[in-house]
Amino acid sequence: MPASPPAPSSPVLQSIARREELLLAPYAFRSADSRGRKHSEPEHPYRGPFQRDRDRIIHSAAFRRLSGKMQVFTGERGDYHRTRLTHTQEVSSLARTIGRALRLNEDLVEALALLHDIGHPPYGHAGEDALDDALGPDEHFSHNRYALTVVEELEQRYPAFPGLNLSDEVLESQRTRIDKVAPDRHPLLEAQLVDAADSMTYDAHDTDDAIKLELLTLDDLCETALVAEALKHVRRRHVIGDPTLLRVAVVHQLIERQVTDVLNRSAEALARADFANAEEARMGEPLIGPGSELAEQKLELERFLYARVYRHPELIAVRSRAQERLHRMFERYQQQPELFPEKYRRRAEKVGVRQMAVDYLAGMTDRFCDDRYREMFPDE
Ligand code: MG
Repeated sequence: MPASPPAPSSPVLQSIARREELLLAPYAFRSADSRGRKHSEPEHPYRGPFQRDRDRIIHSAAFRRLSGKMQVFTGERGDYHRTRLTHTQEVSSLARTIGRALRLNEDLVEALALLHDIGHPPYGHAGEDALDDALGPDEHFSHNRYALTVVEELEQRYPAFPGLNLSDEVLESQRTRIDKVAPDRHPLLEAQLVDAADSMTYDAHDTDDAIKLELLTLDDLCETALVAEALKHVRRRHVIGDPTLLRVAVVHQLIERQVTDVLNRSAEALARADFANAEEARMGEPLIGPGSELAEQKLELERFLYARVYRHPELIAVRSRAQERLHRMFERYQQQPELFPEKYRRRAEKVGVRQMAVDYLAGMTDRFCDDRYREMFPDE
């Protein structure tokens, strides 16, 4: 990176650069340093590049479909629990809170948070495994890679280019979710933060949803140190008889504990490191994340949730049904490519029928997938 970057060219970038100079820490990524977009476009008169990326993501079809995609639980279980969309909003909210306190680039943080799960197929991780199986041993399906396919190829929002034409830093940060191993260069701090916020969000809300849906009790979860400590903390401050209020108070405390820990620890590490710019902050150790005690407690809770919730017999049944549906649809689409919409049939010429079938199935919401399945196999 040059010692003094060239002055931003357009008035909007100049005004954003002045604002960022006042608000951001030296290690935050500066909008004026963006490498730009694959297809060059004029600057927007009043939005910076990452504000524009955020808006492009929010206005995409794939983002809206997140409301119809399950996080852990399907829609048959009522409407209390998180969908992929509300999970994404919770991640964005936590990440922005911490990002602002650490004086990171909040616009970039928000764009990355809203993008991070856009590639999830229907039926959560069961759907991902089914599509991975369908592709056979030599090819793999990854929701993180599919997110790039969505925003670089499948979304059709602009006449001049395919995809959303997002800034290079947003695409690169999403790419680091696929290939995490980069020995000497880590994701931008803004991307590290979204990863940490994702983890604290699902640890808290899966605990909440699992108790609310009666897959286990708060007492069961007190086998884990993180939940037991949160309950102790709540009980020291309040006398709560109502189990709903108690559950909610514990979940709030789970979020508070994690956010405070990540914020304090990261702030200390960044102060010690004293980076001069965002590029320097990518070398050395990744700095945004929980301290070792919290990291261990989170791991214990995640193992517990895996064994007792994600592998709960009721969820296993949903999982097998979802996988069987996707498998059968994948076979049928290959035998009868005429069943695909025109846009996808054209895509088959480029990527082949198998890949196209996976791309099409991965974009479906849970309900759309259920409806297509019933149309294809009406006698079941
Ligand atoms: Mg997520």
